[in-house]
Amino acid sequence: MKILVIEDEQKLASFLEKGLLQAGYAVSTCYDGAKGLEAAASDSFDLILLDLMLPGANGFDVLKNLRSFGIHTPVIIISALSETEHLVKGLDLGAVDYIKKPFEWEELLARIRVVQKKYFGQESPVIKIEDLTIDLIGRKVMRNGKEIKLTAKEFILLEYLARNANRIVSKNQIMENVWEMDFDPGSNIVEVHIYQLRKKINEGFENKLIETVVGLGYSLKGKK
Ligand code: CA
Repeated sequence: MKILVIEDEQKLASFLEKGLLQAGYAVSTCYDGAKGLEAAASDSFDLILLDLMLPGANGFDVLKNLRSFGIHTPVIIISALSETEHLVKGLDLGAVDYIKKPFEWEELLARIRVVQKKYFGQESPVIKIEDLTIDLIGRKVMRNGKEIKLTAKEFILLEYLARNANRIVSKNQIMENVWEMDFDPGSNIVEVHIYQLRKKINEGFENKLIETVVGLGYSLKGKK
């Protein structure tokens, strides 16, 4: 899930960004209303966290403009304006929720999950292969009921392998899709990450899910 944060307070913006990244969301941040509107209009976000008192264009105007452009991305307003009239105005303009500053972090996450469920299905998408489960939004990997801690890159690599389960993916394909870089034949970055990932996923289990297919690439094999 990709979240756009429109917030001019640098400290709060970076707090939000770090926290959301840690919670497994992709995040972009804009520090003024006009730029926020531009970003919201040009990129496809799943959710917008919108401050109201902003330079450039205030949050109400951002919201109004978005809706008039036909962009219906769910918006949660986060504002220090705590009067009922502001809340009502925000909801009337089409915000799905209104959180008053200062807010509790856990509450924000819970409200984001509500939006997630409402707009993107009841459960977060999970890929299951044999006893391995990959929670794509919670960014959690379990094998046989036990959590496996992965780095952000290892997670993306595993997700890519899992989406292509029972197929062979080449080093070149991994480079392009996981690193979004052209293939440099001299680089061993893929091997290094596969090695680490395989250790974490396979070690201690008889059934080795990630395999090297000599000369061709790698494969995550198992029953879905
Ligand atoms: Ca502000």
